Amino acid sequence: MDLLLKKLNCFYEKLDLHLQSSKRDCGVCGECCKVTSVLRVYPLEMENIRRLVKNGVKMKRFRDFTGNQVVDIWGGPSGHCPFQEGDLCGIYAFRPYQCRVYGHFDYQGRSLPGRCVYRGHATRYTRREELPLYDEFNRLTKGYGEAAQPDDPNTNPPPG
Ligand code: SF4
Ligand code: SF4
Repeated sequence: MDLLLKKLNCFYEKLDLHLQSSKRDCGVCGECCKVTSVLRVYPLEMENIRRLVKNGVKMKRFRDFTGNQVVDIWGGPSGHCPFQEGDLCGIYAFRPYQCRVYGHFDYQGRSLPGRCVYRGHATRYTRREELPLYDEFNRLTKGYGEAAQPDDPNTNPPPG
């Protein structure tokens, strides 16, 4: 498990470097974490975040949207991601794959909010397979699915 998580975080670094080629930095307006949409978070990523957050209440809110397969963070009961702090991401270093590619890539060319600095500059996509380094990411997350069941409640840390 630890090795897979290490690989995931190395992968994130590689992905971020890859995305830097767009030469456009996020405007950190926070709008994309508030609007109704669907954000997929994979079990391996969930475990990565759980180890960072060490807060059972927040993780429960996060898991409540999901069943630990697909997390519908945006558009959930609170209307925004439970990890958003002000306009910023409270788990920035551990944020999921889809949060990283968002903006650089725009689902069907119509998912970006009005204030987003990537509007007019994003790459349009329709299938996940078109996203950067997706095959590598997919192999990594599948490796976790075969190795362990995600988020066994008995392994979660106590709240706080
Ligand atoms: S995890 Fe961070 S970047 Fe992703 S939706 Fe939540 S606050 Fe936004
Ligand atoms: S809407 Fe665009 S500019 Fe604003 S935080 Fe999201 S990705 Fe960054």
